[in-house]
Amino acid sequence: MDTKIFTIANQKGGVGKTTTAVNLSVGLARNGIPCLLVDLDPQGNASSAIGLSKKEGGSLFPCFIDKIPAENQILSTAVDNLFLIPSEVDLATVEMELSQVDNYLGQLKRCLDPIRKSKQYGAIVLDCPPALGMLSMNALATADYLIIALQCEYLAMEGLGQILKVVDQLKDANINPNLTLGGILMTMFDMRTNLSRQVVNEVRTHFSEKVFETLIPRSIRLSEAPSFGQSIFDYDPHGAGALAYNNWVEEIKKRFLSP
Ligand code: ATP
Ligand code: MG
Repeated sequence: MDTKIFTIANQKGGVGKTTTAVNLSVGLARNGIPCLLVDLDPQGNASSAIGLSKKEGGSLFPCFIDKIPAENQILSTAVDNLFLIPSEVDLATVEMELSQVDNYLGQLKRCLDPIRKSKQYGAIVLDCPPALGMLSMNALATADYLIIALQCEYLAMEGLGQILKVVDQLKDANINPNLTLGGILMTMFDMRTNLSRQVVNEVRTHFSEKVFETLIPRSIRLSEAPSFGQSIFDYDPHGAGALAYNNWVEEIKKRFLSP
């Protein structure tokens, strides 16, 4: 099985990146696709949302710095087929340290290449921090597909130009010629407001079919699930959030993972 790498990014904070990374990984795993979720955010939200705590020495930090194999950091989770490389606060210092090494954009790729080549996983999902710093740039330099989580709110598209420019630069410089904008996922859609609909229309006008059909609704359940260390599929399997993420996982499978 070929391994596809997805990076969930947007330098804006709080737009639903981690919620999306977690529910994509769990959704794929539940569909029988072995999935590795890599928490690249020093905040460690994806790790705790999966029910695993941050542990000193448990992140990719020693892989970046001391070149220990990333395979050593993989943990199994309560979900069948789902594996995690957690984060820890130390990861924040990688931002500084990486800027001192040669090929500073290629370090995550170096770490993950053996895992990709092992073909054990159908997908690797990278959860990025809310900045276009070294970690996010390394994620973009490694991924096949960039998934942008975009909150349905005023000025949602602000900053999009910047991240799309980075995609073009990484391709043009041959650092990651494979990188493709996989799509834009609209999150926290509120059916009751005109604003949400207007934002979706505006983004669809600019990005047409790159915008996923599925809209992720604003849902209290989605915001509660992480504090129970559960995905929405376990926390509220019949609610609107689970339904939406399930539909979106189907879109991802159809677009990128069909044989
Ligand atoms: P950061 O930039 O800090 O990493 P993020 O982009 O990863 O944030 P999340 O952590 O996924 O965003 O979401 C931000 C907050 O909004 C969290 O409290 C989360 O539980 C909540 N949230 C995410 N998606 C939804 C949704 N569809 N409906 C309601 N709340 C949501
Ligand atoms: Mg996050």
